[in-house]
Amino acid sequence: MEEQTVFHKILAGEIPADTVYEDEEVLIFKDIHPKAPTHLLLIPKKPEDFVPSIADLSESTQHVPAMLILKAKHFADMHDINGYKLTFHVGKGGGQEVFFLHLHFFSQQILSAH
Ligand code: 5GP
Repeated sequence: MEEQTVFHKILAGEIPADTVYEDEEVLIFKDIHPKAPTHLLLIPKKPEDFVPSIADLSESTQHVPAMLILKAKHFADMHDINGYKLTFHVGKGGGQEVFFLHLHFFSQQILSAH
């Protein structure tokens, strides 16, 4: 069985997260140690979309990064965030700590209540 990461536990509801958006494909929640006024994490929800890292992508999971980027764009549009930074950390040498593929969303703008 694959190792259960902290993000598996968040998806399973075993540990709480400050969720700001959810649909059938993605969960978006606030990073516990924010490095910008808005610092969110986007993770795929479907079990078949799970991949530990960009370094582990295969033909069956190659759509996942694009899906996360598009969800980030829709989220930004929805909240009138007109500037943001998107980051994937890849591997330990790239600063990745949680081996459940995720997209960081950073913005200097504070999330408005919608
Ligand atoms: P990485 O370095 O793997 O790209 O990023 C992992 C991120 O997950 C870090 O920015 C870290 O602060 C965040 N993180 C780690 N554990 C938790 C947690 O239990 N809850 C939340 N919301 N974020 C977490």
